[in-house]
Amino acid sequence: NSNTEEKAVVKTVKDIGSVILLKNITRFHELDEAKTNFMATISHELKTPIAAIKMSLKLLADKRVGDLNEEQDYLMRNMQEDSDRLLKITSELLELTQVETGKIQLKFQQTSPQAIIDYAFNTVRFLALQKNIRIDMQVDDGLPKVNADVEKTAWVLVNFLSNAIRYSAEHSSIELKATVKQKMVEISVRDFGKGIEDKYLERIFDRYFQVPTDLKEKGGTGLGLAISKDFIEAQNGKIWVESAIGEGSKFYCALPFIHDI
Ligand code: ADP
Repeated sequence: NSNTEEKAVVKTVKDIGSVILLKNITRFHELDEAKTNFMATISHELKTPIAAIKMSLKLLADKRVGDLNEEQDYLMRNMQEDSDRLLKITSELLELTQVETGKIQLKFQQTSPQAIIDYAFNTVRFLALQKNIRIDMQVDDGLPKVNADVEKTAWVLVNFLSNAIRYSAEHSSIELKATVKQKMVEISVRDFGKGIEDKYLERIFDRYFQVPTDLKEKGGTGLGLAISKDFIEAQNGKIWVESAIGEGSKFYCALPFIHDI
């Protein structure tokens, strides 16, 4: 009867609709993938010239090509800060492409927490030096090994440390601690900078979130901590923050350690 026919027609129309929708979604995914690949290539390609700029600036800073007058020194410092910022953004974009496509590729290896800390420390040493900031290391002796991706975990520590440097005053200090707590190796980075208001704390690990005033003053992408969270959680770890306005912030990450057999 006509009622059944009508239902059949409606069903066919719906099916066609679904096919069109499916085709559109597939097309959308292809475009999205192309965009992601493009972003990965661009951010990768950008890293080399930025590294070259940083190297040239370092030659200037070390006075290897002669003394700089006050004005030149000021300009050179500005360029150093900007190139550090550029490097952070490109490295975040590069990592984001992995996180977005759900392709966080972890290379697990049994490693000492000290090796990860050294890796991170070497990356930010000059950044700290530029602002005359001292990094105090308090790494417990004999920490157990962790099963971790060294580069990704170091990336997280670099992000903690470079944020700490960014939000601290010149000539201040930062504490990096590593200890065992609740069956995990806990690494924390404490700064004595401006701190973060309570109301923002729960959004600090959200993608693209930045404290509104920092967005204006400091630029950045609001991606570093979100990617850090993805990296740590993909390794069954935990990440969190404590902070008080005017007192500073302390960012933590903790990874399960390997028990002795
Ligand atoms: P980005 O630094 O690129 O903006 P992040 O995800 O690393 O992105 O940080 C997000 C926001 O968290 C920053 O914009 C800043 O507002 C705040 N923040 C991060 N670390 C600190 C810190 N150590 N002290 C004060 N604010 C911080």
